[in-house]
Amino acid sequence: MLFQFRIIQFATIALHPIMDIVCSREELMLFERIGKAAEMLNVSCYVIGGFVRDKLLGRPTKDVDIVCTGDGIELANTVAGTFRHKPQVNFFKNFGTAQFRIDGLDIEFVGARKESYSPDSRKPEVEPGTIEDDQKRRDFTINALAISLNAADYGQLADPFNGVQDLDQKLIRTPLGPDVTFSDDPLRMMRAIRFATQLGFTIIDDVFEAIKRNKERIRIISQERITDELNKIMAARKPSIGLDLLFRSGLLKEFFPQMADLSGVEIVEGKGHKDNFYHTLQVIDNTADKSDNLWLRWAALLHDIGKPATKRYEEGHGWTFHGHEVVGERMTSKIFRQLKLPQNEHMKFVAKLVALHLRPISLTKEDITDSAMRRLLFDAGEDIDDLMMLCESDITSKNRMKVKKYLENFELVKQRLREVEESDKIRNWQPPITGDQIMAMFNLTPSREVGVLKTAIREAILDGVIPNNYEAAYGLLIQKAKEINLFMPSS
Ligand code: ATP
Ligand code: MG
Repeated sequence: MLFQFRIIQFATIALHPIMDIVCSREELMLFERIGKAAEMLNVSCYVIGGFVRDKLLGRPTKDVDIVCTGDGIELANTVAGTFRHKPQVNFFKNFGTAQFRIDGLDIEFVGARKESYSPDSRKPEVEPGTIEDDQKRRDFTINALAISLNAADYGQLADPFNGVQDLDQKLIRTPLGPDVTFSDDPLRMMRAIRFATQLGFTIIDDVFEAIKRNKERIRIISQERITDELNKIMAARKPSIGLDLLFRSGLLKEFFPQMADLSGVEIVEGKGHKDNFYHTLQVIDNTADKSDNLWLRWAALLHDIGKPATKRYEEGHGWTFHGHEVVGERMTSKIFRQLKLPQNEHMKFVAKLVALHLRPISLTKEDITDSAMRRLLFDAGEDIDDLMMLCESDITSKNRMKVKKYLENFELVKQRLREVEESDKIRNWQPPITGDQIMAMFNLTPSREVGVLKTAIREAILDGVIPNNYEAAYGLLIQKAKEINLFMPSS
């Protein structure tokens, strides 16, 4: 059941005489509990930040941030103690924060703080402050909104920086001068771009200019935190918004120069090539329309990353990027390490898709044989559907007729692939004789010969030279073994 949490709002009273935040019964009961506990401790407290912002925007949210003029850890413990089954309170003494989970909500408590940074230290001087002090140190006006949980003004919105107006007008603005905000904590530059992407908001010019001026400060932020924000941008509905802002602000070049290098068009003999940066953004958005898989989107981001390194102008012919998929595959693991992305099966998946991304398209151009189809199904294995999604997304052109024609051809390839898959079941297929069996038959240890024989069987089946069964494979094996002077030990 949903209840209305009434808030009277003064600052923009003409726009919003009364604002209703829709809270669940659990949320409302929790807020009352917190308000009463704060009263007992004689401190004032507020719900603040992302929760208020998201509720006003009607976005789902499960994270509740509470700020109080006092000891946040003490308030968290007092609130937790009022539940029949006391939740476990986790706290960080150094930061003065405490957190617990209840009813599927993640609640974090912190004492209101006043911060001052000195230019030669990244660590701020922190001292207890008022709620206004705390709102000032928030990153954006839309994240500085607070709702009182105190008896005297319960439910009232504290909005000293006109955050509600910025929510209305879909603007990202800093509470203080943007140079101060970004220099104090450069991660906020990434956050500005991330919120602009997630919420579809505009970063006001002053703030965007300040990001350009302060871009080099991003170097003092750990790569993990930068990549966290980058992944939130990649997970958004339209990642290109954020990636373009990262590029235009100069931030991208600071931490991911390989991607920034995709940009630009060179012209020789009147012939230009695609701007690979904007092409890549289009491909990412196309995959984002089809799938929520973050790693598929990363494959889209990296599919042409090898192009700058392989770009050549061949006289009379035009621009070529021969082997860019192989170079791109190699660059993938390096970039994953550089960005502190996981070095696990996700990385292997991305590298594999980058390596294979031209294959399905090439099947639209030639006379498609079943063996080429089988080969692609074998090489892609269980990732074939993702690979096909990536390739379809890769069909971009300013010419709509061209796109339409390519997509139709591609549909034919998909259809043929389905037919071959149906009859041959090549996906996740293993040849009928394994390496272990070959070693046992010929009394071999792992060696080059085993590889040669295994490959011969696999290739013959994929090419349709022999049928896909044990007898045929065995016959071929004996024949190939003879050719390299291998004989079965007589038993
Ligand atoms: P999301 O949860 O979607 O990431 P959020 O705004 O809730 O968005 P959190 O990281 O959960 O972000 O932070 C909660 C609140 O803390 C923010 O709304 C903001 O008021 C404040 N905050 C977080 N990070 C910073 C920062 N780097 N500088 C200033 N204020 C911050
Ligand atoms: Mg949050």
